[in-house]
Amino acid sequence: MTKDEILKKQKQYLFPSVSTYYSDPLVTDHASMQHLWDVDGNKYLDFFGGIVTISVGHANPRVTSKIKAQVDKLQHASMVFPNEAVVALAEKIAQITPGEISQSFFSNSGTEAIEGSIKLARLAGHRVGGAAKSRLIALEGSYHGRTFGALSLTGQDKHRKGFEPLLEDVTFVPRNDVEALRAAVNDNTCAIVLEPIFGEGGIFECSVEFLQECRALADRHKAALVFDEIQCGLGRTGTIFAFRAFGVTPDIVAIAKPIAAGLPLGAFLAKEEFASAISPGQHGTTFGGGPLACRVALEYLAIVEEENLLANVNKVGGYLTQQLQQLVEDYAAAKEVRGRGLIQGIELEIPSRPIVEQGIAQGVLFNSTHDTVVRFLPPFLLQEQHVDKGIRVLRKFLGRKRRRAA
Ligand code: PMP
Repeated sequence: MTKDEILKKQKQYLFPSVSTYYSDPLVTDHASMQHLWDVDGNKYLDFFGGIVTISVGHANPRVTSKIKAQVDKLQHASMVFPNEAVVALAEKIAQITPGEISQSFFSNSGTEAIEGSIKLARLAGHRVGGAAKSRLIALEGSYHGRTFGALSLTGQDKHRKGFEPLLEDVTFVPRNDVEALRAAVNDNTCAIVLEPIFGEGGIFECSVEFLQECRALADRHKAALVFDEIQCGLGRTGTIFAFRAFGVTPDIVAIAKPIAAGLPLGAFLAKEEFASAISPGQHGTTFGGGPLACRVALEYLAIVEEENLLANVNKVGGYLTQQLQQLVEDYAAAKEVRGRGLIQGIELEIPSRPIVEQGIAQGVLFNSTHDTVVRFLPPFLLQEQHVDKGIRVLRKFLGRKRRRAA
């Protein structure tokens, strides 16, 4: 099909909400590592990475060969009959988080991993504090997904509006406001849920001091500390889990996005004392933990480890920070650089959406989830030369140069 035919059918047969992202959307055809091609044969450098799923590259040959082998062997049999891939993956996760996280529950998406985390935290809370121990603490400006539970924790009106009433037992606290946090947490709190680095919310980091206070309050009040690492986890910070970069260990971690290289897979991971709060039959899934996605997830972790990709995330991420900082020095429209590793954003004085659209025309895929932030969440294989290309293109759209003091 041609681009026009695909767009026409999209408009006709998919919900209208799907067609509203860009005025002239790129229609994808194929992709390889950090590049993507549209149906007209145009090539794009990908700083967007399939909404943060393509961390080891598009169609990475190691991933592709595992998919092919597993497809021929076993595609699905459900968790009623366990498979080798799911137990090997859970074992691997426990091995890379020694003394921290020991058990996993696999889902199909990030939002389901958050739902599972809240359900687990409620059960663990009720176990130690009875029915009243059910309150949740979340952060203003956060994003946790689109189901009712996850939306109830999402601290942005633009996502919540129209769907109320949501879960009532949620108190929102401003990010990094230790006093507000202390005032909000009490013995009825069953969980503090947060993203250590806000992803969709525009790349804002929690401070170490704030996270340490979350840990201390969760311990004092026997509540679960839940980190949503769906976007910032699995290597993007230059450590395999974001919590390592901040030196604060949560009780429950939600992951998803890149873990199965674009196939649907999420998980909530927990310390044994929390995982044991859930009894057989209290939570379940048809597709979660399927052998195909889990086999790919094992390969994802192997690629990150064996190909030393975290070192590359740190090296090229550092270079990206420098180059973005240079834009702030050079252009009046560039305000602030935030993030680390390969989860970074630049705050602008001008709208970011037109820049993303103009970037597409120049062969570079940037991303923007907020009015004035251009985000960079590329595959971990990124090289300095790719950063240079992205920055060259960005410079074209930033307008007037700052006047230098003589
Ligand atoms: N939490 C965070 C931090 C996310 O970035 C996302 C997805 N953007 C989700 C939860 C929801 O994940 P999914 O879209 O896979 O349901």
